[in-house]
Amino acid sequence: MNPGNLHRYFILLIFFFFSVCNWVYAQNAMLNTKEINQIADKFYLLSQYGCNIVVMAGPEGLLLVDSGTKEYAFKTDSVVSTISDSSIKYVLNTHFHFDHVGGNMKLSETGATIIANEETRKRMLSEWNIPEIQGMKYPKVLPYSDKYLPVICFEDSLKLFFNNEIVQAISYPNAHSDCDVIYYFQASNIIHAGDLFFSNGFPVIDIYYGGTIAGYIRAIDSILELCNEKTIIIPGHGVISNRQKLNDYRNMLVESKIRIFKLIKEGKTLDEVIAANPTKDLLKEGESWIPINIFVNTVYQDLSKK
Ligand SMILES: [Zn+2]
Repeated sequence: MNPGNLHRYFILLIFFFFSVCNWVYAQNAMLNTKEINQIADKFYLLSQYGCNIVVMAGPEGLLLVDSGTKEYAFKTDSVVSTISDSSIKYVLNTHFHFDHVGGNMKLSETGATIIANEETRKRMLSEWNIPEIQGMKYPKVLPYSDKYLPVICFEDSLKLFFNNEIVQAISYPNAHSDCDVIYYFQASNIIHAGDLFFSNGFPVIDIYYGGTIAGYIRAIDSILELCNEKTIIIPGHGVISNRQKLNDYRNMLVESKIRIFKLIKEGKTLDEVIAANPTKDLLKEGESWIPINIFVNTVYQDLSKK
């Protein structure tokens, strides 16, 4: 082999080495185990999937609460498989919004049974289309096809006996939407509150699909009654929380509601209420996942309804 060829082989070898490294890196990024974190015995949390997905892994298999967005659905199964070889047996949906049910089809194709309340299924059968709020446009979501739909439905509540745990589902009408459910894992003292709690700021209240601030506060009151100081509370969005923080959140919402209602009674218009910034000392802009004026707008519209 002459020195020229040797040089060429050496470059090819280096190129091959970096290609392999790149491939391994890409695979690790695809199956980034940091995206799934253990939060308790048998329980894991997948965040950055549009919503908080809770995974329960036990002797009878895997159970997920919520399935994230459609865009991330291709990854969910792979990431979950890094913690267990078992198949996903159940997916429980907290409500019908696209960032909570978008992965349903992918997971049902792998054999998972989708469970939700009847209102969620009903909502998934028609389109979701809300008007622009304070310049924020939400994507229109078309009715879901059969493979996305829950196949076991309940009305007010359900008990699922799985992995030596009683999983209690409780419906809350007219809160974040008209079909919210929380899932309470009794033995492990863990609650997935869905979008009845945003630990990253003001809540989204879907007033166009049955949500109300009064119902939202009522739902939190009921969740607080189920909890004790050791309960792990998983919000629909944001970091893991606890009873004390949920209680503070409830008080902040009660105060916001009182202040906005007072301005409505004084005859203030929506623009005047937003300009008055009635919640400014409760949560600052930048501390809230959704812009504050969107929250004030929706509460104003909700409380102005005759
Ligand atoms: Zn939602």
